[in-house]
Amino acid sequence: MKLANRLNDFDAYLGTAMNLILTKMKEEGKDVINLGLGDPDVIPPEHMRKSLADACYAPDSHHYPSFYSPMPLKKAIAAWYERQYGVKCDPETEVLPLLGSADGLFHIHTCLLDPGDIALVPDPCYPAYIAGVRIAGGIVEPLPLLWENGFLPDLDSVPADVAKRAKLIWVNYPNNPTAAHATIEFYERLALWARKHDVAVVSDNPYSEVCFDGYCAPSFLQVAGAKEIGVEFNSLSKAFNSCGWRVGFMVGNRDIVAGMTKIKSHSDRGMFYPLQVAATAALTGPQDFMQVRNLMYQERRDVVVEGLKKCGIDVESPKGTFYIWAPLPEGVTNSKEWCFKVLDEIAVWMIPGSMYGKHGEGYFRIALTHPVERLSEAMVRLEKLLAS
Ligand SMILES: *Cc1c(COP(=O)(O)O)cnc(C)c1O
Repeated sequence: MKLANRLNDFDAYLGTAMNLILTKMKEEGKDVINLGLGDPDVIPPEHMRKSLADACYAPDSHHYPSFYSPMPLKKAIAAWYERQYGVKCDPETEVLPLLGSADGLFHIHTCLLDPGDIALVPDPCYPAYIAGVRIAGGIVEPLPLLWENGFLPDLDSVPADVAKRAKLIWVNYPNNPTAAHATIEFYERLALWARKHDVAVVSDNPYSEVCFDGYCAPSFLQVAGAKEIGVEFNSLSKAFNSCGWRVGFMVGNRDIVAGMTKIKSHSDRGMFYPLQVAATAALTGPQDFMQVRNLMYQERRDVVVEGLKKCGIDVESPKGTFYIWAPLPEGVTNSKEWCFKVLDEIAVWMIPGSMYGKHGEGYFRIALTHPVERLSEAMVRLEKLLAS
């Protein structure tokens, strides 16, 4: 028996392997602080949990999801997008619920790429984009995200022949891993560029509700003509502290929605009905918990930015996401070697920038998914290590 060659074209998700290493260290008695975790340490508000529990308990909720109308959830998604961003979507044709946005991030490539087609993918980026392109037989063309450009791609630097062969371009703001944000003006330029070159824009926006200092992240779909050329993914995972629920959605271009609906009619049978009920309740229910939650992340952000300063590492305070993207300490050049050395010596795990792409080298990522005391403790350990 021989497995398919395509399995050699991409790497397995790093988090899974790292968790095994960290668990082993904990079992050995080490006080590990895992600053790699992109999963909130806070939980969904009570009304969401109760609505999920009630719907689970009901006797008629356990059939194939196709047994139930998808419209209540689709309408709730459309209403939420209109309320948050003023973006109008037809719930029937421009909205698609997903089993976490990861479901969509993966299948979108099958929907848009033929073998040999180019996908423009930011570097550094969330690794799922690359795996998706490669599995679909597409070619990854990296778009460097550089500090001097505010970690936005330079669209003018894409060669004409590459733009011609490209079928899609990924954008993700507020960004993982760099924590950078995009302006509406950037999205306007992107939409113009994409229409000129007939390239589909795929915007991944799961941190839209994790913002600080009064900043509100825009949606790509807010700009004129966006729906003609693109789609946006969003998710309850980060916005509603519910990564484990696997509830996300895609909104935007109706042809892409139709294509994805066709693919997903085979790859899954829809979302567990109680999750549909609870997601509908979340999107239509009270959301003031987000403000309190964001203030909590903001305080943590300030603790880490201050702590890094004491280590001699200067970072800008990000306006969104729960990440800090920091340059390596002076004299250090290899992020992977350094992060594993830090783990070995002070039991603090931070993700090496190079794991997000070539242009991530020179940086490391800290997640703010721990209480202030633990983050402070990690910073104190780091300061001592760097002083020694
Ligand atoms: C967390 C995250 C997501 C959300 O994934 P889900 O499958 O919805 O949990 C998507 N994109 C990026 C860049 C993320 O960091």
